[in-house]
Amino acid sequence: MNDPEFKYNYLDKLSPSFCGAKWYNATIWLGSGMTTSCHHPLPHKVDPIEVQSNPKLLHNTPEKKEQRRQMQCGERPTGCEYCWKIEDMGPEYISDRVYKSQIYTEQELQTAFTEDQETDIDLITLEISFDRTCNFACSYCNPAFSTTWVKDIKNNGSYANLVSDGRNHFTHPHDKNQLFKLDEYNPYIEAFFKWWESDLHRTLRELRITGGEPLMSPELWKLLDWFKKEDNTSDCSIAINSNLGGKPELIDRLVEARQHLPSLDVYTSCEATGSQAEYVRDGLDYEYWWTNLARLSESGINTHCMMTINALSLPSLPDLIFRILEERKTRGKDFAVFSLNILRFPSFQSCLVLPQTVKDTCAGRLKSILSWDFWDLHEFERGQVERLIEYLYTVETPHNESFEMPKLHNDFKQFYQQYDVRRNKNFETTFPELKDWYSTL
Ligand code: SF4
Repeated sequence: MNDPEFKYNYLDKLSPSFCGAKWYNATIWLGSGMTTSCHHPLPHKVDPIEVQSNPKLLHNTPEKKEQRRQMQCGERPTGCEYCWKIEDMGPEYISDRVYKSQIYTEQELQTAFTEDQETDIDLITLEISFDRTCNFACSYCNPAFSTTWVKDIKNNGSYANLVSDGRNHFTHPHDKNQLFKLDEYNPYIEAFFKWWESDLHRTLRELRITGGEPLMSPELWKLLDWFKKEDNTSDCSIAINSNLGGKPELIDRLVEARQHLPSLDVYTSCEATGSQAEYVRDGLDYEYWWTNLARLSESGINTHCMMTINALSLPSLPDLIFRILEERKTRGKDFAVFSLNILRFPSFQSCLVLPQTVKDTCAGRLKSILSWDFWDLHEFERGQVERLIEYLYTVETPHNESFEMPKLHNDFKQFYQQYDVRRNKNFETTFPELKDWYSTL
């Protein structure tokens, strides 16, 4: 079945608001006890007391049970407005409700649809974060996801004079995102391991672990050690988001752990080269990152490179893609399979704040890479590069509610001037291509 057929001939016949993700998928932040499913609806809190006697509460909260009831009756849960907006654009528009339901079998969807509202459902796909410990403090990240970012704010105070950061990413340490110290009892982590031992290791098909930097989390190693002890007990494929900037011992340990896992995919991030990459991803050692990426690939780990396309990635993004494609000549087509995620927030770091000439230069270089037909390039990678080229040529403001450009330019300059002082960096010498434009801001 293609996407519209699946929607109209199957999913909508169950109910026009039914979505398998509400039953079988979750994103759970164990450091703060927040849960959601899928990742679009705003997260909500899991009761820290009740979860100790019922670990499945990590996903089966009263809120989600009510949303499932609504979906079974054809009502639209308000938290899923991301999908409703797309569907209301017209019958030809396909929302994530369809894509995220399609990954489950018809039998699984049918079971969910007829399941009693009070039943606790076991997950099939899950993304978890154990904590926000991270050795990097990337410019487009914030203290909610990185302890190094927390230190920046605690040591130096809020970033001043930003007028477009409506979400206050850079003004406080986001303490609500990490309620427990690493050596403190955390009921959510205890619940996760209880549930993992009882059922999740059987029911999960995919577990993605994110952070912070998961390799720095003792809980990640506890989980990977479980696979070593219980060889072949679980078919769950594991994916880990890692900045690949951890100590060599951690990389060694990951390579060793691979032998006991059904499969391992590592998703790392980079979107520029050399000192420009190190400027944006503060903490990165660019050549060490390459060494680790190659090592993982040689060890049978599937490698992926997530590129967060922001203003400072445009001057050298084509060089990074070129190097990955060069490496594939010897490492194979599946080395560092890349995705391009166009940054929307913080909007002053969007590539759309740059002058059109810089965007045109990047788009032109990307076009010429695509025009060479000897690359081992996946079709979806080509599609994403083409989409970025189009975006750079045609889109003018970062997002609908975006503040007008002078405010974004103000924030760009204000932010990077303070970032330079706090992080001992130098914008002008790192980005000579942008120096003249930067001086006019
Ligand atoms: S309906 Fe859309 S927003 Fe809601 S859970 Fe499904 S995919 Fe996510």
